[in-house]
Amino acid sequence: MSSYREQIKDKKRIVVKIGSSSLTHSDTGEMDYIRMEKLVRELSDIHNQGKDVILVTSGAIAAGRKALQGSRQGEGSRQREDPGRSGQAEAMAVKQACSAVGQARLMMIYQKLFAEYNQVAAQILMTKNTIVDNLNRYNAHNTFQELLRLGAIPIVNENDTVATYEIEIGDNDTLSAIVAALVEADLLILLSDIDGLYTDDPRKNKEARFIEQVDDLTEELMDMGKGSTGSSVGTGGMNTKLVAARIATRSNVDMVIANSRDTGVLHRILEGENTGTLFVAHADDGFDLPGFVENLHRG
Ligand code: GLU
Repeated sequence: MSSYREQIKDKKRIVVKIGSSSLTHSDTGEMDYIRMEKLVRELSDIHNQGKDVILVTSGAIAAGRKALQGSRQGEGSRQREDPGRSGQAEAMAVKQACSAVGQARLMMIYQKLFAEYNQVAAQILMTKNTIVDNLNRYNAHNTFQELLRLGAIPIVNENDTVATYEIEIGDNDTLSAIVAALVEADLLILLSDIDGLYTDDPRKNKEARFIEQVDDLTEELMDMGKGSTGSSVGTGGMNTKLVAARIATRSNVDMVIANSRDTGVLHRILEGENTGTLFVAHADDGFDLPGFVENLHRG
């Protein structure tokens, strides 16, 4: 066990991100309740250890899409009903409608599960503007601090229902790193359907080597993630995870990518076990979070 991993035991404020592909069954797209239950139980126990816990969750669009499927307002029928609009605007409207339905469903499940473990869950929906606008950012920071002081578990997602291209963050890997920076977290854990970072895509290249620890996030490493699209359910591939690592590590937050299929993985990480890929924080006082977020997706 590396000595750096040992220090993870002392982390107090933890942000955990879970992706849509980890929350749904790949065959049917339906919610994976067992996985959600295990996640909530682990997070509740970590909270009971006296740590601050924030959950960044995807799955709203996936849950809403499923709920609306087959109904008259569902994806296919809606596209036919409104032929005058451009494909992109259409896709956006469908996504926003799905998230409006799905976010409420998602929270209903989390509220129920967290209540079973006697935890108070709170919802925070963010947009790009929450970070870029000084007053919004200040208010969001205060809300997080107060919720954590009161012992609640904030559950965060992007406010997809109102986010449009100009104001969208776009993926929850990036969002979770932004949240970790905003709340001055000690550790960000990205739970995904992969074990961590490899030298190449292990699904395509058998020679790909697993990387246990990244001390320096070089341009070469950043380039490795480009073009990686990940699973078809969420929006995050390795590229967004490396962007998240850049935001987190420059904001003095350590980050771990780990496999959500691995039961008890959160506890094992927090016990200092060598699991997943650890990105070591390097505080950069010159890092301008609002400026970085403002320029996201602008090339
Ligand atoms: N905010 C989106 C949702 O809840 C997910 C974004 C992502 O997959 O990273 O469905």
